[in-house]
Amino acid sequence: MTDFTRRDFMKVSAAGAAAVGVSALGFDVAVAEARTVKQELRIEGAKVSHSICPYCAVGCSLLAYTRKNGNGVELLQIEGDPDSPINEGTLCPKGASAMELAVSRRRLQHPLYRAPGAGDWKRVSWDFALDRLARHIKAARDRTFVAKDDEGNVVNRAEGLAFAGGAAFSNEEGYLAAKLMRGLGLVYLEQQARV
Ligand code: SF4
Repeated sequence: MTDFTRRDFMKVSAAGAAAVGVSALGFDVAVAEARTVKQELRIEGAKVSHSICPYCAVGCSLLAYTRKNGNGVELLQIEGDPDSPINEGTLCPKGASAMELAVSRRRLQHPLYRAPGAGDWKRVSWDFALDRLARHIKAARDRTFVAKDDEGNVVNRAEGLAFAGGAAFSNEEGYLAAKLMRGLGLVYLEQQARV
């Protein structure tokens, strides 16, 4: 009987496998190559805009992909900016859902008002909402304004109001908000970045 070494067995096995392709393993290279599909990215050709996640003080950078269509501009995708030294392309789960701020079916698109004692919210105009806010701010300021402290020093402060700025404020927005609130006499000014 001819000696059949382990090395001979491996050679025969390799040759056999090559002869039948590797379909026995469930993968046929020739068929896979013939069926190569051209993939197109959803964001192919889209305009890229830079933005910042509005949710917290970390201030991660975002890339927003948009494309014009028949109805205007469609937001296709929002993802982390890989060039940002802050988040290096990553986003936390909250930031990763930032696109929902724009496209969610549950997003509120107009002010709602619930009158004192009422159980339901009703839709109101922006004029109504802003006028009401202004009236309440004025009333609270008038009610709690302190012109002089206990020692007679002029302080001119509105102790019944406070203001908190958002993490997505630009320098200019923060400056404007601080000037407006100081003008009203507020002393309790805070920023989300410090919370
Ligand atoms: S992605 Fe997350 S960590 Fe970054 S700013 Fe938004 S909420 Fe903050």
